[in-house]
Amino acid sequence: MDICVIGGGIVGLASAWYLAEDGHDVTVIEARPGVGMGTSQANGGQLSYRYIAPLADPEVLAKIPGWMLQPDAPVRFRPRFDPDQWRWLVGFLQVCNRRDQSDSVAALLPLSLYSRQLVGELVAQAGLDFCWRRNGKLVVHRDRGSFEAARRRLDAQPTLAAAQQALDVRACLQVEPALARMAPHLAGGIHTPDEEVGDCLSLCRELARVLSARERPVRFLVGETVERIETRQGALTALVTSQRRLEPAACVVASGTDTTRLLRPLGVHVPIYPLKGYSISPPVLAAGGVPEASITDYQRKIVYARIGERLRVAGMADIVGFDASVRAARIDTLVRETRENFGDAVDYRDLEEWAGLRPATPSGRPVVGATRIRGLWLNVGQGALGFTLAAGCGRLIADRIGGRQPLVPDAPFMPEAA
Ligand SMILES: Cc1cc2nc3c(=O)[nH]c(=O)nc-3n(C[C@H](O)[C@H](O)[C@H](O)COP(=O)(O)OP(=O)(O)OC[C@H]3O[C@@H](n4cnc5c(N)ncnc54)[C@H](O)[C@@H]3O)c2cc1C
Repeated sequence: MDICVIGGGIVGLASAWYLAEDGHDVTVIEARPGVGMGTSQANGGQLSYRYIAPLADPEVLAKIPGWMLQPDAPVRFRPRFDPDQWRWLVGFLQVCNRRDQSDSVAALLPLSLYSRQLVGELVAQAGLDFCWRRNGKLVVHRDRGSFEAARRRLDAQPTLAAAQQALDVRACLQVEPALARMAPHLAGGIHTPDEEVGDCLSLCRELARVLSARERPVRFLVGETVERIETRQGALTALVTSQRRLEPAACVVASGTDTTRLLRPLGVHVPIYPLKGYSISPPVLAAGGVPEASITDYQRKIVYARIGERLRVAGMADIVGFDASVRAARIDTLVRETRENFGDAVDYRDLEEWAGLRPATPSGRPVVGATRIRGLWLNVGQGALGFTLAAGCGRLIADRIGGRQPLVPDAPFMPEAA
């Protein structure tokens, strides 16, 4: 079948990968000058298969009033005259409770563990080079109460307890000696030895390279924007791009935060709103001074990951609309935190400052599956976990298009469930 994928981010490319494996003729249409240059560009780099709890958490809800008064808080909200923003916030508040949160975790965990298996297969089969490492992840808690709560959650879930360990501060230091400066402020940490890290932009480029070199190559239309999706009698008929008209048999929309605007004229609503985050990636000067494992500072919601010769520091969730500009005050916070925790182990003169918009649904669940328009499929809304979930979501959409039952339950991700 002739299939177009709109969006050359990690989700679109993973979709293209599995569709091409199924023997379809695939075209990827990407508006930017290259693949992976949207939100997939400089994210936290975490393949965080076991940390899939969504932002919609009653603990987060309780902290929001305090964060509103704190200029360098991990979450920032700027109200706008935008019904989508208010609709999203109402949806978010509705699912900020234990039951919805644990439903989302229960839905996401099989998908993320499936992604882990698929990424392992990709690395083994296709020899993709994207600074991938199984380096483990240590989530450190500054607050004794939150550490004890994390330890209790672990004790209550035997499947997690088999893969994770609660560590006191001394044990955290044994796992990760580069935490020496942070240690006096810590209560403990949860260690997951088999979590992974990689560079999402490099993976995007690698996927595109291998897909372009296939015997039946995937076609890339880069620097070309899909301006309109046309339908007739409830079925997809054409995509009108900035340069041509295409008439594929099917189309997978993987356009990240731009999805809402693209689908609105068709009357297809997906509850996606941008959650803006930031990163810096300074070069490492002293290898022993930066962590080998990925570190998540639980209270400050900042992740640290060594990616190649650089330290990726990422975090924050600003609910401020579609503005992807880099805000100096947010970068200053990331620099200050890095300096406080790792001193001069990195070179602050070359930060590679970046901001990106997470395509977030209120519940943190992606939207993957068929729309009511025949031939029009969605693979969007991976939010804070797009790098982690891309392989699984790519496989899901290819399975559904190919008429196969996916290996993991996908009912919670179907468009009508969103
Ligand atoms: C600060 C930060 C840290 C993060 N850390 C992590 C992490 O550690 N681990 C993790 O798993 N996830 C992380 N994420 C989330 C992850 O980066 C995203 O979920 C993921 O990149 C989304 O991929 P995507 O392909 O859906 O979107 P994108 O990468 O944005 O790709 C969508 C593409 O569609 C193109 N497009 C849009 N509209 C059109 C159109 N009309 N025509 C043609 N092309 C179009 C865009 O140009 C874009 O390239 C982080 C995000 C941020 C912001």
